[in-house]
Amino acid sequence: MQKHRKGIQSGREKRNFLTVAEMAKEEFRVYNSMTQQKEVFEPKVPGKVGMYVCGVTAYDLSHLGHARAAVSFDILYRYLQHLGYEVTYVRNFTDVDDKIINRANELGENPLTLSSRFCQEYIVDMDDLQCLIPTHQPRVSEHMEQIKDLIIQIINNECAYAVDGDVFFAVDKFPNYGRLSGQKLENNRAGERVAVDLRKRNPADFALWKAAKPGEPSWDSLWGPGRPGWHIECSAMSAHYLTFKFDIHGGGIDLIFPHHENEVAQSCAACQECNISYWMHNGHVTNNNEKMSKSLGNFFTIRQVTERYHPLSLRHFLISAHYRSPLNYTVLQLESASDAVYYIYQTLQDCQDALSPFLEESESRGTERSSKLARVTPAALECIKALKLANSSLNMFKKKLQKQQQLSLIQSLIEIEKEVKEVLNILGLLSSSSYSEVLQQLKDKSLKRAGLVEDDVLHLIEERTLARLNKEFAKSDNIRTDLTAKGIALMDVGKETIWRPCIPSEEHLSQ
Ligand SMILES: [Zn+2]
Repeated sequence: MQKHRKGIQSGREKRNFLTVAEMAKEEFRVYNSMTQQKEVFEPKVPGKVGMYVCGVTAYDLSHLGHARAAVSFDILYRYLQHLGYEVTYVRNFTDVDDKIINRANELGENPLTLSSRFCQEYIVDMDDLQCLIPTHQPRVSEHMEQIKDLIIQIINNECAYAVDGDVFFAVDKFPNYGRLSGQKLENNRAGERVAVDLRKRNPADFALWKAAKPGEPSWDSLWGPGRPGWHIECSAMSAHYLTFKFDIHGGGIDLIFPHHENEVAQSCAACQECNISYWMHNGHVTNNNEKMSKSLGNFFTIRQVTERYHPLSLRHFLISAHYRSPLNYTVLQLESASDAVYYIYQTLQDCQDALSPFLEESESRGTERSSKLARVTPAALECIKALKLANSSLNMFKKKLQKQQQLSLIQSLIEIEKEVKEVLNILGLLSSSSYSEVLQQLKDKSLKRAGLVEDDVLHLIEERTLARLNKEFAKSDNIRTDLTAKGIALMDVGKETIWRPCIPSEEHLSQ
């Protein structure tokens, strides 16, 4: 009887869960750059999502702008999976490009060897930032046949023409050109930045295939040896892995024009059925409110930042603004992010310590309650709220409580901890290392920024304890103030003094 009732109950819970999950799915809206409005997300094939995101041109270490794009779409990937979708996520590598060839020539290196090296560096950065590995990470050099076939299709449909080994897309043949970016053809000066190539029928026509120049890597084609233009690769690779009809195409906001505009034109010119439901673009990372970019030289590489800050702190910083808004880089922002991550992990550690004697007992209890989590849009806020709740519950816990109160507190702490972990997982902020390991890593980074080692701090703590015993309070205060200014906070817990990282003083921030 008992068993039977349990069965009904879990059945009901399951139905509840589905309803809530379905609700979350129905409520999930995305901003579509094509229509310039938020739309309810509806996949083309129920239960499945195809997503293509433009990756990096691999000729150098990636900077924070690249990291932001990767993290923004990683969270989308995680959230779609959380909603129960089976997601095919494709993120390409541009490994054949002018910038790569130029850099390789400077270094006297083979262009493909150089790009392969930086693809590998990017993969290391992504792993550091806890970005999940996409389903496919195609490279241009490995998809030449698909690219050439696509160009042939476009030529056959009379939307492209070959001249002296080059192939150009004829923008006049595509009436919808400019729909995504809102650019009018007559205003389009893209082709006029440099001297206009007089072989083009319209100055805005762009290259699908470039005839080989001496010393450049090239591939044979119907038009002679050459290499693809930049835009065609994403049309070809997205169609290869996701067909011409798929759900989400993403990238940085600077890719809307000309890259994505040209992609739409190429794909639709090749295949009338071509249809991408949602175009999504993340905002720039700025430095002094100017776009961080290679060309302006005002950028920081991911490596430069993770040298001084924990990758989770960087990730927290990267998601601290809405993904479509610009995100301004300051050292203070990174310090705040680092402080927030420390707070989260310290609270989780405290929870774990408080609960460890009771955890075995509760393991067998119901775990089917992920439903509350279905809405994670304001996830970060919720997370902080839950953490505050967890902290106040922990404080209550420390007080003497009646047995019954204690049991319900334990239960709610377990619930909160689970909820926080689930949200952190969607945000990609849950480490595979233990809480204590992450806390130690955060401490190590803060010591590094302060120019200290832990022994220095422990020695100063001893000195301060001694000064206090001798009633030399000015001295003991100075030790504490100096350390705080460097980002090391001392805390007296009973008779013991411990330390944790804190935000350093303004003077030390600029160092
Ligand atoms: Zn692309």
